[in-house]
Amino acid sequence: MGQKTMRAVVMHEFGGPENLRLEEVPAPEASALRQREVLIKVRAVGVCYHDIINRSGNLPRTKLPSILGHEIAGEVVAIGPGVQDFRVGDRVATIQRVHCGRCDLCRRGRTTLCKEGVFFGEEIPGGYAEYVVSEEQGLARVPHGIALEEASICACTIGTAIHVARTRGGVQLDETVLITGASGGVGLHAIQICRLIGARVLAVTSSPQKEARLKEAGADEVIATPSLKFAEAARRLTAGRGVDVVLEITGARSVPSSHASCRCRRRRGPTNSCTTAP
Ligand SMILES: [Zn+2]
Ligand SMILES: [Zn+2]
Repeated sequence: MGQKTMRAVVMHEFGGPENLRLEEVPAPEASALRQREVLIKVRAVGVCYHDIINRSGNLPRTKLPSILGHEIAGEVVAIGPGVQDFRVGDRVATIQRVHCGRCDLCRRGRTTLCKEGVFFGEEIPGGYAEYVVSEEQGLARVPHGIALEEASICACTIGTAIHVARTRGGVQLDETVLITGASGGVGLHAIQICRLIGARVLAVTSSPQKEARLKEAGADEVIATPSLKFAEAARRLTAGRGVDVVLEITGARSVPSSHASCRCRRRRGPTNSCTTAP
């Protein structure tokens, strides 16, 4: 009997989306699982901006051909030797990367910043496929009642938004929060989290056509500005006081955005930068 195959979206070259091709490839085999590895039948996978950065050739650790997709949810179909926390049939989701568990950052609980671990779609095959293998420390159990489609984006997209709004930003009830990059995946979730905390949200977008979508997500005010010069508008919307917290989701390299973020804060209000690491 030949080796089993599976369908997967394979990237052979960096570049545009035409480089992602649906193919039959060898499926990972249960009998080949190594220490602490878990075989997962993929049910849902998020498509993240990180995937676009990777496809464009901007992540040096990616080896081609590659299967992208790090926001994975599915069911455990086999476990390798030494697996302690998962059994066949468990519903699981990836927690973005497989951290080493040994380095200083891991020991301090900052596992998403681990430099020694491996990332789906870079060093190891990702979830744009029917099956994927992960070491168990890269997985979390998904409670019943949470759809796997929703669970797939909990760690990377929603986790980043929670980290930036609550852990780093310390957003409080009745504060006014300005969110740049508000129409992206992290931004849309940051809006909802800030509203759940009870804050007033000013959402900044460079695309005026996204205004309705941002209001729908819960933004109290939308500042649509292609030039990202939003400091004046933010001051006007806060009666000259400035905002309490800025969640800078466009990333520190966006100079006009960072500059405006600093100018629209109330005195001593924090600015938080958020790129891809939660
Ligand atoms: Zn992601
Ligand atoms: Zn580590």
